[in-house]
Amino acid sequence: MEFYTDTLHELRFDSAELMPGFLTLLKKNCEHKQIDNVIGLTDVAFDFTEHYHAKIWPGAPMIITRAAGSRPKDIPSGFAYMPVNFDIDGTLATAKPSQPSARRLVIVSGAAKLDRRFAKRATSGARARQFHDWTVDVRSELSVPEPQHRLSALGTDTAVLYTTTYRDNNGRTHLPYELVAPMAKSSGAPIYGEYPSYLGHEMAAESVIGFETTGHLAGTLAASILIGKTPARRAIAAASTSRCIADAGVLGKLGLPAAALSENCELINVPPSFWREYRVVMLSAVGVVLLQALTIAALLWQRRHRRIAEDEATLRLDELSRAARFASAGELSASIAHEVGQPLGAILSNADAAGMMLKSGPETGELHSILADIRRDALRANQVVQRLRILLQKHTTTLDPLDLNSAFDEGLALLGPECRQRQIVIEATMSTESAWVLGDRVQLQQVLINLAINALDAMESTFAPNRILSVSTRVSGKGYELAVADRGHGIPADAGQRVFNSLYTTKPHGMGLGLSIVRTIVTTHGGQVWAAVREGGGSTFTVWLPAVPEPAMSIVRPEISKVSETTAVGTQPETQGGHL
Ligand code: ADP
Repeated sequence: MEFYTDTLHELRFDSAELMPGFLTLLKKNCEHKQIDNVIGLTDVAFDFTEHYHAKIWPGAPMIITRAAGSRPKDIPSGFAYMPVNFDIDGTLATAKPSQPSARRLVIVSGAAKLDRRFAKRATSGARARQFHDWTVDVRSELSVPEPQHRLSALGTDTAVLYTTTYRDNNGRTHLPYELVAPMAKSSGAPIYGEYPSYLGHEMAAESVIGFETTGHLAGTLAASILIGKTPARRAIAAASTSRCIADAGVLGKLGLPAAALSENCELINVPPSFWREYRVVMLSAVGVVLLQALTIAALLWQRRHRRIAEDEATLRLDELSRAARFASAGELSASIAHEVGQPLGAILSNADAAGMMLKSGPETGELHSILADIRRDALRANQVVQRLRILLQKHTTTLDPLDLNSAFDEGLALLGPECRQRQIVIEATMSTESAWVLGDRVQLQQVLINLAINALDAMESTFAPNRILSVSTRVSGKGYELAVADRGHGIPADAGQRVFNSLYTTKPHGMGLGLSIVRTIVTTHGGQVWAAVREGGGSTFTVWLPAVPEPAMSIVRPEISKVSETTAVGTQPETQGGHL
């Protein structure tokens, strides 16, 4: 199948003198071709084919598309007919809801014969039908740009219906759609139209059938005639329904509500809304926020449970530390009993002496001295008992600023009797005046006692002159170091830092918990502990703790310290000269 297309443009411009030449050309063109079907598009083609079809395409079936509303009896009897719906009613119906207060319709068209015909049809359509409450003015035969000036005086109380301008009054020819945008730019009233090609050129709205639909219907009718299914005579194609299309951008610019249009009206050129424009970004952002919220909730849940676990662990550590302190106290008990026994024995002897003196007569001077001795011995016994009581009492970990040296002094005082019993000398070197850390006094003393008892155990078989327990503190970086060194058998070669693991022990009756507790306490205090082989034999255990600034106000010392302040240090001969 072949298609030939001839245009009738020239006829549009009413050029009657062109007709004879045009007819001759067309006739010659078709002379030796078999023409099976002729389709004439629009009223222009109808006029032409009505007059000339017998001359040019004799016998060929004719299909003619024409504006709807033409009466079938106007169609020649041999023609098939396909109505083309210029839906003036539908177009004006779209104007009503968006311009409810408008009472005037201005119809604008050109001056060509066809223009005038379209204008006439639109005018009679508008006047005759439901728009009778509108006044209808027709502005045709104007010369471009005249209509533009006139439209600029209008407002939204007027609707403009633009049909076609193939030629203006000055004889200038145009393609109708080209005038839509210039008119719309100057017009204060919305412009409605009847051709699909006007859309997108600032046409406000129209009710139209798309060119594709018209072409499809005409093609279907032609095919049906060609295969003999439909006789060409007076066949009428099904009319397709028009649909409303409105330019939301144009209506918005004029302040007319696009939302007022019927739901079936398709909106084009809808100004981008924030949601339409950034939907993906917004959905992603909401997704991210939700994910974050979930993550935060999960973290909070996790933190809560971690806190519970930490509290539980702290409680267990407190209990374990206390149990370990009981074990240490057990080890020290014999020497401590001896320590307490000494002053108690002295008190007894002094009390006996005082009694005898009272029997023999009033010798008050000597009696005063005896009472002073009794007081001193009682304080000494009390001091030992107090230290032990503090070490063993139930205790919750609390971190306060404290002076390491004073805490370790008290710890060393508890170790003193045991060292004396084991014939081990304590060498204490506290290198700074005060060493302030954030800590728990009892737990830090426990660190010292655990390290020291291990050192004493390690020196069990050490040659007497070397049985020295060295305890020292010094500034190190941003903190303080406590070093506990001995001349014992040294850390087992294969152990390394494993000595800090719980249940690691090389002692027959050891529990393997002392160093593990030390490490836990030190870590809780933000510090570190490590073991090293000591040059010349033995081992050194070093604890590092971060320093804090010395508090402005003096810290209230525990009870034991107050007692010791009233006690003469010289009551323990070994403590003099740096040895406890
Ligand atoms: P325990 O004293 O019950 O064995 P610890 O955890 O206190 O438990 O010590 C673990 C092990 O570390 C000890 O059994 C010992 O082998 C080793 N150790 C600890 N301190 C010293 C030290 N000063 N010298 C040599 N070995 C030590």
